[in-house]
Amino acid sequence: MMIRFAIVPLLLALNFSLCKKHETVSQNPQPAGASSPASGASTAGGSPGVAPVAASPKITKPVVDQTAQTIIFCYHLLVDKVRYPGTEITPAAFEAQMKELKDRGITVIPMQDLLAWKRGEKNIPPRCAVISFDDGWKSQYEVAWPIMKKFGYPFTMFIYTEGVRGGSLGGGGAITWEQLADMRDNGIDIEAHSATHQDLREGHTITLASPGGKKTRTKLTGPQYEQWVQNEVVGSKELLERRLGIKVNCFAVPFGNYNEHVKELARNAGYEAMFTVYGQPITFTSPLDSLGRYAIEANKPKVFADAVKMIGTSTGGAAAVAEVGAKDLASQPADGATVRTALPLIKANLSGIGQIEPGSVQMRVSGLGVVPANYDPKTGTVSYQVTQKLREKSCSVFVSAKSAGKKVETHWTFGIEEGAAAPPAATTPTPKR
Ligand SMILES: [Zn+2]
Repeated sequence: MMIRFAIVPLLLALNFSLCKKHETVSQNPQPAGASSPASGASTAGGSPGVAPVAASPKITKPVVDQTAQTIIFCYHLLVDKVRYPGTEITPAAFEAQMKELKDRGITVIPMQDLLAWKRGEKNIPPRCAVISFDDGWKSQYEVAWPIMKKFGYPFTMFIYTEGVRGGSLGGGGAITWEQLADMRDNGIDIEAHSATHQDLREGHTITLASPGGKKTRTKLTGPQYEQWVQNEVVGSKELLERRLGIKVNCFAVPFGNYNEHVKELARNAGYEAMFTVYGQPITFTSPLDSLGRYAIEANKPKVFADAVKMIGTSTGGAAAVAEVGAKDLASQPADGATVRTALPLIKANLSGIGQIEPGSVQMRVSGLGVVPANYDPKTGTVSYQVTQKLREKSCSVFVSAKSAGKKVETHWTFGIEEGAAAPPAATTPTPKR
């Protein structure tokens, strides 16, 4: 018994060292976007302190900030004395990194918020991070969780089911089902990381454990492989869902080793997102079947430093502008419409953008410049009744506002019916455009 417990962590440590191969050096060294610290999550639709929206037009889908970026971190064991720097980190170093995120104004968001943002359902702060822990180690429950609580950070646990205590690979350092249930009860996201944590591609060497506990190295192909990989990808998800009564929609691929076939299996099993260890900033258009995570190791502090740099610094630089479609703002007169009056009421509903910073709303109208528009924070509506006849046959409106420290802008153009427009001033003929 003792021997088994000693051997298992060793095997795991050997396995994990393979992860290094798949780590990626940062590409695109341009810092992204935003310049000011994220001022907390701005979720679309009502936020605390804002009166309930009364009779404003219903926006079924909020306008999400498509310029936001996230970095996803992946941690393994937390130990006081690092012996395997490829997968371990000291609690002090871990805590310092969590603090650094806070100091840099990088908001830690739940994985499920990231996915909701990708679906266009929820806004996330311009610069944020997701924290995940792989494999299911006891130290994640005992050491990492209290630190995360201290900062109020959400996180995700990626579990390989045979590694949970009591499973064929669940040694003394493994987390228990009871501990996972405790985490679940406290809102921690628990997701899948296969059954036995091996290379999931057909024909690769794997270790099979017979019911008697005997282990054999082998390469599976054909129907035998299909049966095995099915259990790794689908069986592990079903087991987590059954044991914990949860919905699992994320799959972290062991070592990041997969191919189209594995992706297809995962998609068919109902996974919404798949994660690798090729760290890179996640953007609105990043493919959901290969979201890269930064694996943080004790011997490579630079990985964390680089990841944080990738989503920009909180000082200097011009504020990024997020362009939103006027259509989503129920603009009036609507984009492309023609009105019969040269004195229209111009309106847009900004409530879908998120929490608007008071006093930041500005409207410009072609031919008039900045106009004294009215902004009603209760309904999120910005409006301006034109009082001076518009002279051109078409009119462009520009509305800008600040939300979560970021400038958001929209513009649209409507037409004014011939004859309604005021006659051109003086006798200079208006050139055709
Ligand atoms: Zn792993």
